[in-house]
Amino acid sequence: MAAPVDRQEALAALAAEAGTRLELAAPQDILSWALETFGDQFCITASMADAVVIDMASRIRPGVPVIFLETGYHFPETLRTRDRVARKYPVVVHSVVPKQTIEQQDALFGPKLHDRDPDACCNLRKVEPLRRSLEPYAAWASGIRRDETASRRSIGVVEWDANRAMVKVNPLARWTQDDVDDYVAEHDVVVNPLLSQGYPSIGCAPCTRKVAPGESPRSGRWAGSGKTECGLHLNADGQLVRRGN
Ligand code: SF4
Repeated sequence: MAAPVDRQEALAALAAEAGTRLELAAPQDILSWALETFGDQFCITASMADAVVIDMASRIRPGVPVIFLETGYHFPETLRTRDRVARKYPVVVHSVVPKQTIEQQDALFGPKLHDRDPDACCNLRKVEPLRRSLEPYAAWASGIRRDETASRRSIGVVEWDANRAMVKVNPLARWTQDDVDDYVAEHDVVVNPLLSQGYPSIGCAPCTRKVAPGESPRSGRWAGSGKTECGLHLNADGQLVRRGN
């Protein structure tokens, strides 16, 4: 259930102020602010490509909730990474499933909806489950970065997610892939083995292909469809949540 309007306005103002003040802060300081500000009403979402944000947050405050969208279409390596994360880090991993099994979805919409209408499939298997799983929280964090795609270049380190009436925290927004690689090596962070097998960006198996050297890391996602985002980070107008929203 969405917060009352006056609380939403207060949260939006809080996000705008923090987004400006923390723009140059280290990811750990951004996470510390979020954990201190929102307490039990803060969670992390994870695709299980790597556990950088989880590693950072769990060092600051053990027991942070981590939401993993179990679409039913993940690579086995991704599910094993999820299980390794749950064993290694002092976090609480919630695997959230869609309302329909793949068989039920096939019966209603026909098989391989991901090939015919990936937006509809993502809505059913990612966007709705995320919306449902975020309801108990006032703020959520993701590991998206500005250097991943042109459309992500304007994301804030803290911003107002008007679509969900929540504060969105992107502690790695300013980081590059080299920053992530350095942190992974220094802290022995759990990573998905597919990252080193030609999959620099990992989503559901039917919608993720290997990327050739020199190709954009995200080019293996929904290749050839024109789709670049699953919808998790989009506002109601179909645009990415941005600084100043
Ligand atoms: Fe469906 Fe592909 Fe989206 Fe996964 S990434 S939910 S399989 S369209």
